[in-house]
Amino acid sequence: MIGGGPAGSAAAIAAQQAGAAVTLYEQSRFPRHKVCGEYLSPEVEPVLRDLGVWDELMVRQPHRLKRLVLHFPRSTKRAGLPEPAWGLSRHALDHLLIGGVHCVVRERAADTPGAVIAAGRRIERQPAGSRQFGFKAHFTGPSTDTIELFFFDGCYVGVNGVEQGRTNVCGLGPEDTLRRAGFQPDGLLASFPPLRDRIAPLSRAMDWLTTGPLIYGQRLDAQARAGVYLAGDALSFVDPYTGSGMLSALLSGVSAGRAAAAGEDPRAHYGRCSGMLRRAYLVSSLFRFAIRTGAADLLLPLVPGRALVSWTRPDRSR
Ligand SMILES: Cc1cc2nc3c(=O)[nH]c(=O)nc-3n(C[C@H](O)[C@H](O)[C@H](O)COP(=O)(O)OP(=O)(O)OC[C@H]3O[C@@H](n4cnc5c(N)ncnc54)[C@H](O)[C@@H]3O)c2cc1C
Repeated sequence: MIGGGPAGSAAAIAAQQAGAAVTLYEQSRFPRHKVCGEYLSPEVEPVLRDLGVWDELMVRQPHRLKRLVLHFPRSTKRAGLPEPAWGLSRHALDHLLIGGVHCVVRERAADTPGAVIAAGRRIERQPAGSRQFGFKAHFTGPSTDTIELFFFDGCYVGVNGVEQGRTNVCGLGPEDTLRRAGFQPDGLLASFPPLRDRIAPLSRAMDWLTTGPLIYGQRLDAQARAGVYLAGDALSFVDPYTGSGMLSALLSGVSAGRAAAAGEDPRAHYGRCSGMLRRAYLVSSLFRFAIRTGAADLLLPLVPGRALVSWTRPDRSR
C-alpha cells in the first residue's frame, strides 16, 4: 500500500481484516497537519465502524455540525444538515487511522504492480495563470455548530469547528485572485465582507499551510489495465466544498484493500468505484463551472439544501 491518508489506511485495515499481511509506505511522519476542510460527512460513521475505529474517533471529541450556510456575493442560503456531521482535524484523523497498520515511513514509487496506490492528488505541471491553490489554518475563539461556505471571486472558503474548540478555515482560489491578495490568505479573507465578519472574533493559532496546484479528474478507466488498485484522490478528486473527499477516499480504499487481499482483477474494483463516484464527480464539476462563471449566485439558492448535499455524495446503492 502506498500512501497513509484516509484511502491508504482504510485499504490497509480492510486488507488486514481479510487476512492479508500488509505493509504501508507513507512518506511523512504522523501526526501532521494537512490542507483540508476537515468536514466529515455523517456517512463516514458506518464505514469507520466497519474498520473498527469509530469508538476511538469519538474519544477525540470531534465537533458536531448541524447547520449549513452558503454565502454568495448577492445571496445567502441556510439549511439544516440532513444529519449532523463532524469536524475533526486531519492531524487527529490520519494519525488514528494509520495507528493500526504496519507503516514504513518512506517514499515508495507509486507504480508497483499489484499495489494499492493511495498517494493522493495527481501532481503535474500546469500552465501559470490557470492554477488553483488551497490553504488552511486553525483558529481559536468562539465556535458554532454551523459549517459556513463562502464563494467569491472564483474562491471558496469553508469555516467550521473541529475538536478542542478550534475552528478550521480552509479554502482555495485561482492564482490570479491569490496574487492580488499578495498570496496572503489573511488579505483574501478580509476582501469578502461576510467572511471578514465571520473571522473577526477568531485568532489564528498556526501558520497558514498551502497546497497545489489542484487538479480535478478521474482515472477510473485509464488505470484499469495497469494492474494496480488506485484509491482516494489518486483515483478521483472531487471538489473540496462537497465535503465528500474523505468519504470517497474511505470507500474506494476499502474496495481496493479487499480487492488486493483477494487478488481480484483491478477492473472489478474500478467498476465498483465508478458506480459509486460518477454522479458526485459529474454534479461537482457542474457546480465548479457555476461557481467559476458566477452563475452559482443565481442558481444555487433555487436548489434545495438537502439535494445539494446528497447529489455530491458517493452513491452507495451501486
Ligand atoms: C482545500 C481542500 C479542502 C478539502 N476539504 C475537505 C473536507 O472538508 N471534507 C472532505 O471530506 N474532503 C475534503 N477535501 C478532500 C480531502 O482532503 C481528500 O479527498 C482526502 O485527503 C483524500 O485522501 P487520500 O488518502 O486519497 O489522499 P491524501 O490524504 O492526500 O493522502 C495521501 C498520502 O500519501 C502520501 N504519499 C504520497 N506519495 C507517496 C509516495 N510516493 N510514497 C509514500 N507516501 C506517499 C502523502 O504523504 C499522504 O499522506 C479537501 C481538499 C482540499 C484540497
